[in-house]
Amino acid sequence: MSSPHAVVSEEAGEVRRFWTGLGLPGLIDVHTHFMPERVLRKVWDYFDTNGPLIGGLEWPITYRKEEDERIALLREFGVRAFTSMLYPHKPGMAEWLNSWAADFARRAPDCLHTATLYPEPGVESYVRRALEAGARVFKAHVQVGAYDPADERLQQAWGLLAEAGVPVVMHCGSGPAPGRHTGTEPVVRVLARHPELRLIVAHMGMPEYEGFLDLAERYDQVRLDTTMVFTDFSEGFMPFPRRALPRIADLGDRVLLGTDFPNIPYPYVHQLQALERLGLGPAWLRAVCHDNAAELFSL
Ligand SMILES: [Zn+2]
Repeated sequence: MSSPHAVVSEEAGEVRRFWTGLGLPGLIDVHTHFMPERVLRKVWDYFDTNGPLIGGLEWPITYRKEEDERIALLREFGVRAFTSMLYPHKPGMAEWLNSWAADFARRAPDCLHTATLYPEPGVESYVRRALEAGARVFKAHVQVGAYDPADERLQQAWGLLAEAGVPVVMHCGSGPAPGRHTGTEPVVRVLARHPELRLIVAHMGMPEYEGFLDLAERYDQVRLDTTMVFTDFSEGFMPFPRRALPRIADLGDRVLLGTDFPNIPYPYVHQLQALERLGLGPAWLRAVCHDNAAELFSL
């Protein structure tokens, strides 16, 4: 009988075979969730109750583990760098999350120091402070935060991020369920004012994949993360249109591996296999699973 540890090692072996087979030094995952324990527990509770923001879907969390175990697992997988995507759902929360994330990045130096923001008074100054403290990536959750990303109160913050060249991973698509301000239209307004903003569209904009591809083709600094896209789970309810595959092949230098670890209803390796089975070839996979992020974050 195999112990739980042996099962994990077997899984890590599968993940490692994927990237060693491509000749990579490891993976870079731009979309993983680490947040204060009680916030994460609330997120997990939400997934457990199949709430409306997850489209009422059955969503068993595969990696419901203690924080140190989750970090150890990513390292065992050979993830060289990851993020601590965290986000407020109300005012007055972002700064506290940012101080937690700064501390987390000190504790886990392979985590890219992450920060977040919300349309509220003072946002410009705490974004500036986070940048000065060394934040390397931001997360904006338009769906959960239920705000317009083109909100006037965020304009200076977007300007600061664009100027600093610090990317923002934005959940702006209407998956798994639409929010009040999800979809391409608000993002079009953000980019019209901040064309240099290094926007990473989370989940490739699921389900508005083609609309967000239009934006990536129009703006050089728009990128897409693969989080949950192409997996059996997502293909079951928001499939990526096959006709758009040549477009992501052409945008191969602007697609970045993201997974949503630990909040995923399947094993980590499935995301990698889901990318591999697209048949876009080893050069595309190398760029997406490592090289594009290595260049973006100078790793
Ligand atoms: Zn996520």
